[in-house]
Amino acid sequence: MADKQDYYEVLGVNKSANQDEIKKAYRQMAKKYHPDMNPGDSEAEKKFKEVNEAYGVLSDEQKRAQYDQFGHSAFEQGGAGGYGGFGGFGGGGFEGFDMGDIFSSIFGGGSRSSRANGPIDGDDILVRVSLSFEEAVFGCKKEISFGKIQKCSDCSGTGAEKGTSVERCSRCNGTGTIRVQQRTVLGMMQSSSPCPECNGTGKIIKKPCSNCRGKGLVKITKKLEVTIPAGIDDGQRIALRGQGHEGRNGGMPGDLIIQVSVREHQIFERDGFDIYCEVPVTFSEATLGAKIKIPTLEGEMEYDMPEGTQTGTVFTIRQKGITSLNSRGKGNLYVTVVIETPKNLSDEQKKLLRAFAESCGEKNLSKKTGFFKKFKK
Ligand SMILES: [Zn+2]
Ligand SMILES: [Zn+2]
Repeated sequence: MADKQDYYEVLGVNKSANQDEIKKAYRQMAKKYHPDMNPGDSEAEKKFKEVNEAYGVLSDEQKRAQYDQFGHSAFEQGGAGGYGGFGGFGGGGFEGFDMGDIFSSIFGGGSRSSRANGPIDGDDILVRVSLSFEEAVFGCKKEISFGKIQKCSDCSGTGAEKGTSVERCSRCNGTGTIRVQQRTVLGMMQSSSPCPECNGTGKIIKKPCSNCRGKGLVKITKKLEVTIPAGIDDGQRIALRGQGHEGRNGGMPGDLIIQVSVREHQIFERDGFDIYCEVPVTFSEATLGAKIKIPTLEGEMEYDMPEGTQTGTVFTIRQKGITSLNSRGKGNLYVTVVIETPKNLSDEQKKLLRAFAESCGEKNLSKKTGFFKKFKK
């Protein structure tokens, strides 16, 4: 998708444009590149498609937000742009963007026809899944539920009632379009318009399927158990190819995109495959050295803290982080030591501590003496 032009550039608007500006820009561009104005110009036709696609996304606030965040990848295989695709990204309604209303005002209607019976790819479906820290780290299975457009099983997607068949429209010979001569301000123009007999589908269904009312597609609620791989992180997505909305007229189905959000952990913080935590130790432990307990993803472990450990010291425990998604490597665990100053000492304890302080003078406090030397300079 790298060669795809930015939707805002396609319409010639800036990112902060409001819906009125977008609509206005679209009208101008669509008029300029419309196939009827540029007969046989494949470059214009390509441009026209791009314009429609861009408008299909930017005119829909939800899709636009998706696009702003994820770029074109948000709509990979969303395909077919503005030609009235099914549903929004995110599994919205049955009817997507329909450019009919705008075109009827420019061209007196019917310009979307020429492709009404061409293949239209299905839209992607976005499902958000919230995971606990551990579920993301170790992987899990999640049951998700989402609305999906799929082929009607009663008629196998043909739209014709069981036992009846779909016939080819005789008026347009199955093409779905008819050619009409029109007198316009630019002179006589031949344009194609949808066949009124078959509504541009090229097909005649005498007895529509009662289950899907002749659409060939039905909306269902689908439940699916998905496997979340170990090591996945907040904001990452899993794409299940071809599991999105069904396409029309032989178009490809969209993808099912699972967007993961990971809840915070009480102790651990995560950065990539490394994890971080703080461990409180006592003043005596830090001074004398001690075996301290350190939390890890697999439970507690013991760690030999050397004597004279300063607060803020970070211990690196190799290979105790998160297993990376695609390789066998593992991140590290970084433990920051925080020394707790003792509080609420008894008189006896205070006495001992004063005696201890007097015995020390400043000879064990290299940082402090060093600090004040610098300060005096
Ligand atoms: Zn059906
Ligand atoms: Zn027809």
